[in-house]
Amino acid sequence: MDLVLLGAPGSGKGTQAEHLQRELGLTHIASGDLFRDHVKRQTELGIQANDYMTRGALVPDAITIAMLQERIARPDTVNGVLLDGFPRTMEQAIALNELMNRLEREIDGVLYVEVPDEDLIARLSGRVICRECQVPFHVTANPFRVCPLGRCTGEHLYQRSDDAPDTVRARLVTYYKQTAPVIDYYRLIKLLITVSGVGHVDDVKKATLAAVRAIGR
Ligand code: AMP
Repeated sequence: MDLVLLGAPGSGKGTQAEHLQRELGLTHIASGDLFRDHVKRQTELGIQANDYMTRGALVPDAITIAMLQERIARPDTVNGVLLDGFPRTMEQAIALNELMNRLEREIDGVLYVEVPDEDLIARLSGRVICRECQVPFHVTANPFRVCPLGRCTGEHLYQRSDDAPDTVRARLVTYYKQTAPVIDYYRLIKLLITVSGVGHVDDVKKATLAAVRAIGR
């Protein structure tokens, strides 16, 4: 099964992705994580992407598509992928169709985790992340969540530079301008499944998994 997971920054799609990946045995490919890894390793691609990321802008399609094409074509994806944060523009959605055609596969469903704006801003500007295990915490809502790897004692927490309030607002504007057409497109071709991302995280996980299991029935 090949799935796409869409949702605004702060919708909790990363948490949902982790759960779906475990339950369904899919290879999780998060474009934001791929970019952050390049930035950390100071690759040519990372140096190019960093400038856009710190402004809350999307990295140009040509760079993003090339990076994802290379990743999806690797052998560990044969049992299915869960694409997280890609595609975010119509150009990327079209490139994904072409790539899947070439690989003789197709997208089985597009999950859209929907969360109102005011919740997104509150979540993102209070989010901190553990440098060791990448688990997100929230300064007020979720301050002492236990690290699944047992390594988080608080000293590794940091705020992603693009979670600063001004950048959060810029990311949301970008999201609505460029990603809303992608959501409309998947709705039109009847692949879109909308799940509410509001409420207890375990309830959202159950709803998301049930929605995926209902695909093709
Ligand atoms: P994320 O972790 O998904 O919020 O992504 C962090 C940042 O990486 C975004 O704000 C963009 O600058 C960049 N990025 C991630 N995915 C994409 C994409 N599909 N297209 C363009 N830029 C992306």
